[in-house]
Amino acid sequence: MKTRVADSRNFAYLNWKQVDALPRDRTLLILPTAAIEQHGPHLPLATDTLINNELLGRALDLLPADAPVYALPPVCYGKSNEHIGFPGTLSVSASTFMAVLRDLGASLSAAGFQRIAIFNTHGGNSSLVDVMARDLRAEFGLRTFTIFGSAGATFEGLNPQERAYGFHAGELETAFLLAAAPGLVDTSAYTVNYIASIEHKPLLAPENGAANFAWLTRDIAASGVMGDPRPATASNGELWLSAAAQRIASVLLEILAFHEPGQSTGGEAQA
Ligand SMILES: [Zn+2]
Repeated sequence: MKTRVADSRNFAYLNWKQVDALPRDRTLLILPTAAIEQHGPHLPLATDTLINNELLGRALDLLPADAPVYALPPVCYGKSNEHIGFPGTLSVSASTFMAVLRDLGASLSAAGFQRIAIFNTHGGNSSLVDVMARDLRAEFGLRTFTIFGSAGATFEGLNPQERAYGFHAGELETAFLLAAAPGLVDTSAYTVNYIASIEHKPLLAPENGAANFAWLTRDIAASGVMGDPRPATASNGELWLSAAAQRIASVLLEILAFHEPGQSTGGEAQA
């Protein structure tokens, strides 16, 4: 398994005796979720999974060595039916995706772990991740956290149109890959399409509007790209990867220290 996550942070590189020795009440396990789906003619199918792995590996490198945090192997297949019709998109249904998360939560809970963060880098999974975070909390008593993408990091130099509507295979994702895996980017195959413009502010929007319309990529862009990859550079990619990794590392430290607002510190509530 080729991964950017350091061996010392890789849960699947431990043996069961080493897992058994982990402090159950303090250990934070991170479950990455992503996708294998079309990313236009210039980026690979694994883009969301590669970005997840790069961001997580970098973020974990920033934690103190004694922080009890481990990355689980990623759930690479996600709910990607917004990209149906593009060869290479491998999508699982909402019920399958949720069942996988539920079963992994059951395994971790049975082993005594109490804290899980789902680190998701595919927008199509987001609403399911939110549902499952609450369900794992309710069914198994797991303290469950969700982190999406760059965790709200601000990207210096990313233009407002791209920031708002660079949904897919646009400047940000292309810059990330130019920095992390340049051999996988075909810089001669860029195309540009936007799902909406920041100039117009109708009530009805693809996301975060007064009301939203459900979209499929093929309704918007024959190439599969929703954004503008042309201004992407490796140096911006490096800058933005490191900004996002810093932000994610800070989030992980808060998660390690987290107690529900209704609880006093000291005693951990048992599941
Ligand atoms: Zn993507």
